Amino acid sequence: MLSCKELYEHLASGKELTRIQKLQYPMHLFMCHNCKKIASQFKTINSSFKKVVTKRMEKASEDKISELEKSVWEEVERKIS
Ligand SMILES: [Zn+2]
Repeated sequence: MLSCKELYEHLASGKELTRIQKLQYPMHLFMCHNCKKIASQFKTINSSFKKVVTKRMEKASEDKISELEKSVWEEVERKIS
């Protein structure tokens, strides 16, 4: 079964899941309240972040956006752990 740690790594760093893990993912969220909550928070953060980036895309370079994205994820990981 997909572990909470594996699921978190997938959400936080975009680490690819194996085919079996992809099948286990929704089952894990169904059974694990904590991961369900975290997955929903990541979804919110991702969509909010995309909105901000899209708005400012014309002014910022790709490198700056990547840099910003990285610092946001570091902040999120620091707050969650
Ligand atoms: Zn879990």
